[in-house]
Formats: sequence, structure tokens, C-alpha cells
Amino acid sequence: MTTFLNNYLAGQWQTNTTAVHTLRDPVTGETLAATGGAAPGLTEGFAFARNEGARALQAMTYGQRAAMLADALKVLQAKRDDYYAISLANSGTIKADSGVDVDGGLFTLGYYAKLGAAFGEARTLTDGTAAVMSKDQLFQSQHIMVPVKGLALFINAFNFPSWGLWEKAAPALLSGVPVVVKPGTVTAWLTHRMVADVIEAGVLPAGALSIVCGSSTGLLDALTPFDVLSFTGSADTAAAIRSHAAVARHSVRVNIEADSLNATILGEDAQPGDAVFNLFVDNLVRDMTIKSGQRCTAPRRALVPKQLFHAVAEAAAGKLAAVRVGNPRNVEVNMGALVSRAQYDSVQEGLALLKTEGSMLFDGSTQPLLDADHTSACVAPTLFGMRDADSAKLVHEHEVFGPVSSLLGYRDTAHAIELAHRGMGSLVASVYSNDSAQMANTARELAASHGRVHLVSPDVAKTHTGHGNVMPASNHGGPGRAGGGEELGGLRALNFYHRRSAIQGSSVVLTELASGTNPFTV
Ligand code: NAP
Repeated sequence: MTTFLNNYLAGQWQTNTTAVHTLRDPVTGETLAATGGAAPGLTEGFAFARNEGARALQAMTYGQRAAMLADALKVLQAKRDDYYAISLANSGTIKADSGVDVDGGLFTLGYYAKLGAAFGEARTLTDGTAAVMSKDQLFQSQHIMVPVKGLALFINAFNFPSWGLWEKAAPALLSGVPVVVKPGTVTAWLTHRMVADVIEAGVLPAGALSIVCGSSTGLLDALTPFDVLSFTGSADTAAAIRSHAAVARHSVRVNIEADSLNATILGEDAQPGDAVFNLFVDNLVRDMTIKSGQRCTAPRRALVPKQLFHAVAEAAAGKLAAVRVGNPRNVEVNMGALVSRAQYDSVQEGLALLKTEGSMLFDGSTQPLLDADHTSACVAPTLFGMRDADSAKLVHEHEVFGPVSSLLGYRDTAHAIELAHRGMGSLVASVYSNDSAQMANTARELAASHGRVHLVSPDVAKTHTGHGNVMPASNHGGPGRAGGGEELGGLRALNFYHRRSAIQGSSVVLTELASGTNPFTV
């Protein structure tokens, strides 16, 4: 039976909408759910969130809002099996890959529930200490942080229907800011179910969480000056959003997470078959194939010393050959499908582009799919090789959003860093080496163009969190083509949902102001 994904606005589920978009199982093609088109009542729904939602949220202390997040987490934990079933059907993911999204979202929600609890009874955050501005010391300036006076609109990508919601909603709700989420249509079912479960449980006040499924029409027009907008998706849509009249006219605060040509670098000191070499190859293959390569952090470029090019190619090809692609319901399968046939076509176009400048070091398409046929959205892994890393162009510019990466040989570390910078701003780069001093220097160089630098030496082989995994304690976002955004990073995430204001006055008044505040230190 097809589930209709109604919008929830102004504390009401909207009804009487006509199905416009259908959501399908990317392996079997079965129709699973449907959404309507342009949402009616956006202006009223947004006003309800800004007024009722914000009022109720901001009547609570930070500690109470943290407890509210913990309650929402309990509701979601109790329904985990349902979410795995939806992921399997709608995203075509194996259990472990569904976990990256479902449990990744729940983990992040729990992380902010714990972090927020430390703010206790506070209602206002202070930023730094007071600056004395008069000779008699009496006139001072104290920066404070208060929740923004609007709503937070999230326009999300299709690849993380759970994590993409909660990694943003957790810091927003903890800040006291109501949320409206518009998930990527093709996988909107999971986001919709989670929102519906939390609403039904009554753990959030009316207006705190709303959802619009199916069409982005009118969403940006409904924004007003104090709203904030967080977008995750392609660079093309990001450009349209930045230049939208309402966003530009009202100076709406915008955070953009866009596509990224992340690099993973094998250090110059590596030897074929040594610990860092093996770690590099294992992690490259894992990061290429988790969620069928549909992670914004997946390594699209693997940079290795020229003399190790063949050894890495051979080792990676050996491991990629063991990846069994097909229907995630088959327990033999360790990589499921892309989310849709449209994504399948997009990946095929990307492969054709990269073929024009690289050779195929591994082509998994020669192996049969398990329990899936050519009408499914299953794509096998592909590793390209660019012998001349300098003259290659497309590999530094075109993100193929699937299980695809390219090997490039570099001359020395300076050359590897220069190649990594050619991504023009990325979410993450990783370095695998035994040489601590060299890794530290490389990290400093990469930091200017990467939101996160992940360093793997043999001592952290078992404990490092993975190149592609976004942990809430670390910054997520990158400059330039990665969108220029910043998310997570522990308490830093709260910055986006607060307004900083300098309060200038007598120290007597500022002492009054300080009661009920909590220092904001990250
Ligand atoms: P997309 O086509 O840009 O869509 C993203 C979202 O924007 C969807 O909800 C989409 O709605 C909506 N949208 C489309 N056109 C719009 C418009 N004119 N105005 C307002 N909203 C609009 O991207 P995608 O294909 O879903 O996602 C894949 C891309 O996201 C990849 O390039 C990936 O690298 C990037 N990504 C980045 C991150 C990160 O954190 N940096 C994370 C995940 C993904 P519909 O679905 O209804 O079209």
C-alpha cells in the first residue's frame, strides 16, 4: 500500500493533497509512498512556528530543552526497527549502511541532549567576559547570545533522511529555535516517519517541528528577516538558493553544505604491505562503498606516491572484487543500490566523463548483481587511475555521487597538498602515515581548504572514527565548492541558531543581566 506523506504545518497534518511525486524501492521498482506538490499554507505555517513554536521552546531553560531532546531520542529508539525497514525499502541500503543514517542521527541527537544538559537552568548564554570601556571601570560591554527570532528551515539532500534531520534539528531545538524540514523527495519517507513519531508522542511543543514533503516551491519566499536556512545538496541548487530574492533581501542567515571532491592521501613513508599502506587501502575501499558511495564525505580522489601507484591499484582492486552488489535483502550482499534510477543515470554520466581522462583500474560492472537486475539502481564500484595527476581536470571538478574514486600518483608531499587543494574546498581530507611530524605539517596545509583533516597512524588504527564519518564533536563543512558552511563541532553548532549582541551599560546592570546566564565556551 502506498503511504501518502502529508505536510505538517501550523500544528496540523494537511489532508486532501493529490499525489504528485512517487517514492520507489530502488531495487524492485515498487511504489512505496507519494508526496503532494507545492505546499499550501506556508505563510501561516511558518508564522505559527515563529510565534507558537518559538514561544513554547524559549519558555524552557536550556536544560529543559536538552531533556526534551532526550525524550525525542527515546521515542525514536523504540521505533528503530521500523526505520531500518524503511531505509532498506526506500534507500536500498544494507543493514550496516542503514545504521550509518538511522543510528548516526540518533547518536547525534543523544550527543546534543547530553551537551545541553550541562547548561542547566540557563536561559541566556554569555560570550566571553565584560570589556571595560570607561576610565572609572563602570561602563562595560558584555556579549550575550540569544536564540534567533525566527525559524530554522532545513532543505536536505536525499542521502541522509535521518542523520540530515537530527544533526541539524538537535542544535536548533536545543537553542530554542523551531524547525521546518523539507527532506529530499526521493527518500523523504524516513524523515516523514520520524517526524510523525515524535509529533505523535507529544514530546515537543506545538510548532517546534514541522515538515514539508515533495516540493520546495514557495519555501524560500516564506522566509522573513530573522529566519535561518540550512541547505544540503548540490552546488547548482546551492547557487540558486544563495541568489534567491527573499534570501538576499532579508539577509537570511544561510548555511550551505554542497558537493565535495574529498581526498585521501597515502604518506610518502608508506611501503607496500606495511601497516599504513594496508590501513589506507582498507579504508579507501570501505569509504568508497559505504552507502554505495552516496556520502558527501566519500573519498573521490586517492593520492598515492607515484612509485606505489601499481601496488595500491592492485591491492584496492583485490578488495573491491570482494564487494557483492545487489538486493540488500540478500545476506550475501555487502553493497546495496543507489537511491533511484535518476541517480543511477547521473552516476553513469559521471563514469563516462571520468573515462575520458582516466583508465579503469577496477570495473565491478563485469560481475553479476545478486537478486537484482539491470532495471535496478545498483551500481558496482569503479576505481579509475589518472597517471598524469597534473593534466587531469575533471577528476578535480566533477563529483560522481556513487561508489567511484580515482587514484592519482604524486611526486612528493608538496605535490599531494597542491592536488588536494585543486578540489577548491572540500569537507575532508585524510592522511595515512607513520611520520607524525610530516602529518602535522600536512594537516596545517590542508586545513585552509578542508573543514576536517583526518589523520591515521598505526597507533589509532583501531580507534579512529573513519574518514567519511561525521562525528558531532568535530566540525562538518568545508570552504569554497563544499559550500562554505559549518555544522556540528560540539557547541559551535549553537552559533548558527543564536544572535550575538553586545550589551553596553553600567556594570551594575550587567551584573543583573548575568543572573540566569551560562558562559558559552567551546
Ligand atoms: P539537490 O538536487 O541539490 O537537492 C537538495 C534539496 O534541495 C532537496 O530537498 C531538493 O528537493 C531541494 N531543492 C531542489 N531544487 C530546489 C530549489 N530550486 N529551491 C529550494 N530547494 C530545492 O541535491 P541532492 O541531489 O538531493 O543531493 C546530492 C548532493 O548533495 C551531492 O552533490 C552531495 O555531495 C551533496 N551532499 C552534501 C552534503 C554535505 O554535508 N556537504 C551531505 C549530503 C549530500 P527535491 O528532492 O524535492 O528535488
